[in-house]
Amino acid sequence: MVSRLLLGMDLYEYQGKELFRRHGLPTGAGKLAQTPAEARAAAEELGAAVVVKAQVHVGGRGKAGGVKVAASPEEAEARAAAILGMEIKGHVVRRLWIESAAEIEREYYLSVTLDRGAKKPLFMFTTEGGVEIEQVAATNPEALVKLHVDPLEGFHPWHGRALTFGAGIADANERRQIERLASQLYEVFTSCDATLCEINPLVVTKAGELLALDAKVTVDDNALFRHEDIAAMRDPEAAPLEERAAREKGVTYVKLDGEIGVLGNGAGLVMSTLDLVALAGGRPANFCDLGGGGAAQGVVDALEVISADPQVKAIVFNIFGGITRCDEVARGILQALEAIAIAQPIVVRFDGTNAEEGRRLLSEAKLTNVYPEPTMLEAAKRAVELAG
Ligand code: GDP
Ligand code: MN
Repeated sequence: MVSRLLLGMDLYEYQGKELFRRHGLPTGAGKLAQTPAEARAAAEELGAAVVVKAQVHVGGRGKAGGVKVAASPEEAEARAAAILGMEIKGHVVRRLWIESAAEIEREYYLSVTLDRGAKKPLFMFTTEGGVEIEQVAATNPEALVKLHVDPLEGFHPWHGRALTFGAGIADANERRQIERLASQLYEVFTSCDATLCEINPLVVTKAGELLALDAKVTVDDNALFRHEDIAAMRDPEAAPLEERAAREKGVTYVKLDGEIGVLGNGAGLVMSTLDLVALAGGRPANFCDLGGGGAAQGVVDALEVISADPQVKAIVFNIFGGITRCDEVARGILQALEAIAIAQPIVVRFDGTNAEEGRRLLSEAKLTNVYPEPTMLEAAKRAVELAG
């Protein structure tokens, strides 16, 4: 759950491959298509067999039927018609990447991620590619080579050699290509402020060429201001509906799986609230940060987004007033209740600046579905109880 909050902006495979190419990584020739006719035209232009690939921000597309080889432009068109509109793990396919089909001899795995614990980029490499890396780590950990890079020293050729020799790559020509690829991938990782650059599978073709057949790139949200080109790759249609609505209103909102809507001011407080909801036996339905301001209108906007989620059975406010004033948040709750029909019970914990004033406003309004609680834990427990 937290990884979703911290990892940043996911790119589509074709966007990741574009960044790869800029740094010299070998990828197949391809074209973007949004209709079956475009897929056919792309296949005609590329010639020979192509692979029609669903572009969604989740892995496992192959297993889900979102990656299909097509021997002719006609077949590419038919495959495209079948894949467009398909739902893969909750993501609707609206874009396709049509790529010249590769002749695969072997499938490897190569990635760089930000290891937050070690505060260093971490390379992972294995010749057991094509499957989820977690699976390799669990069933065959000795086949997985892990290697940190000191960010101040940067990548050096010995890193590449440690990866290839560590994984037991016998062929010198293959080793040379993989070592160069690792160096280039590290360049993508650092120059794009990525938190993840993953190639799975990294294939060896029948001709002995290394090729990045897939690309999974996540870029740190907080660095997007200095990467206009990458920021422009964001697909506003890819986010869940509520997240899009929230973004338009300037509310930080992340959809989760549970039934308790969580609102707080400040990411730290909201995260603690998520933990308390879990401790009380509930599951958070979302992560909503009102930020430092917490003006009444922001509260109205946030409540509008959250109460519209049919999964939400109860809502908990956890406000620690600093710059945010609890009376202002209370006004927002009252305004929202006047403007929209909110069916879910709302539990409120106020502390800090103007907490008493906020509680007084709520109690004077004599609302039947607002429940004040003195502490975070009691608020979380009450919300879980009301949702149950
Ligand atoms: P993922 O399932 O979302 O990770 O999508 P991938 O891009 O990794 O593709 C899934 C699988 O489809 C790969 O592991 C390959 O086995 C297969 N595949 C993808 N592209 C090609 C290709 O060009 N030629 C062949 N023969 N198979 C491909
Ligand atoms: Mn893959």
